[in-house]
Amino acid sequence: MNISTLDHTYTAQTYARFPTALVRGEGVYAWDEQGKRYLDFTSGIGVNSLGWCDGEWQATVAAQAAQLQHVSNLYYTRPAAELAQTLVEKSGLASVFFGNSGAEANECAIKTARKYSRDRHGANRHTVLTLNQSFHGRTLTALSATAQPHFHQHFFPFTEGFDFLPANDLNALQQRLAQGGVCALMLEIVQGEGGLNSLDGTYLQEAQKLCREHDVLLMVDEVQTGIGRTGKMFAFQHFDLSPDVLTLAKGLGGGLPIGAAVFGERCSDTLGKGDHGSTFGGNPVCCAGANVVMARLDETFLAEVRAKGEALREMLADLPNVRGVSGMGLMLGAELAEGIAAADVVEQARQRGLLLLTAKHKLRFLPPLIISQAQLGEGVEILREVLAGFSA
Ligand SMILES: *Cc1c(COP(=O)(O)O)cnc(C)c1O
Repeated sequence: MNISTLDHTYTAQTYARFPTALVRGEGVYAWDEQGKRYLDFTSGIGVNSLGWCDGEWQATVAAQAAQLQHVSNLYYTRPAAELAQTLVEKSGLASVFFGNSGAEANECAIKTARKYSRDRHGANRHTVLTLNQSFHGRTLTALSATAQPHFHQHFFPFTEGFDFLPANDLNALQQRLAQGGVCALMLEIVQGEGGLNSLDGTYLQEAQKLCREHDVLLMVDEVQTGIGRTGKMFAFQHFDLSPDVLTLAKGLGGGLPIGAAVFGERCSDTLGKGDHGSTFGGNPVCCAGANVVMARLDETFLAEVRAKGEALREMLADLPNVRGVSGMGLMLGAELAEGIAAADVVEQARQRGLLLLTAKHKLRFLPPLIISQAQLGEGVEILREVLAGFSA
């Protein structure tokens, strides 16, 4: 049976997949069953930061798998302890909890905020504020935190204690905090799934101040923006913030499932022994992969991400039927001329050997961070041909 028939027969059909089965990848290219080559502008949705099958990453992961693949959280391992050290040193925060995904990292953040507030201020101060068009994950509570009505169906009852605010609106935040009952504000510095919307620096800095005044935790969901994606190790570093909780996942493991909640001083001891856990959390193979990613992303590497991001932004702005470019670093969105469906562009690009994403009505670009300027240009030329075929 071919791969797609096998999948349709035995897999729950929760994904609308493209008719492509990838069988091998190297750097920024992958090949399908028929041997057709694709250039990757997706990184597996912001995951394969070092591209496919990076040599050092692959060797380190393989060596760890051959040495010790899992021990449970009853014992220490060096890869997890070292990864925690690196995340603390690079973020300026204080301690780390490891899980396996973005949703799980956000669940941990939400539990932390609720307990922090209860420990210090008593019951009934449990509301987490999130911003319209946010995306925080697919578990029931992460969906409850996701401020998009379209996700709030089928699965009632959702978790209580979430209020949604308009982005970049300080008055709305101020008023809601004044009403009381709030334990945290959770936000994405650039909304990924929500359509590459960036928060402005003034909003972020003032929001942080307001949170401090009310002893409300500022929790930054960097599941997509983190680990070099925007040209700094963490997107909050563009704005000189010091969040109380930072959540990470997608790009951290270079392709292996890992998530992390990183805590600032204020809540670094909020979760005590027995308060939270995860069987696979801190898995040594995933952490060994993440250690390679973290070591590779030095200042030189990050400066290159910023330069490549600027180059891509300029090339995209110059394309036919592109009306605007948003986002930061190598996390960009292109607004298309009215009447052009992003999904149609993505499909035609795929047929021509370029893998692309959408975010709402925009095209979304999340190429591997190791991509070269020439490879970016190669993808943009494929896109130019596709877009030139649409008359808007
Ligand atoms: C992808 C994403 C999540 C969910 O991550 P999973 O690993 O799919 O659970 C949460 N927040 C943001 C900002 C994301 O982009």
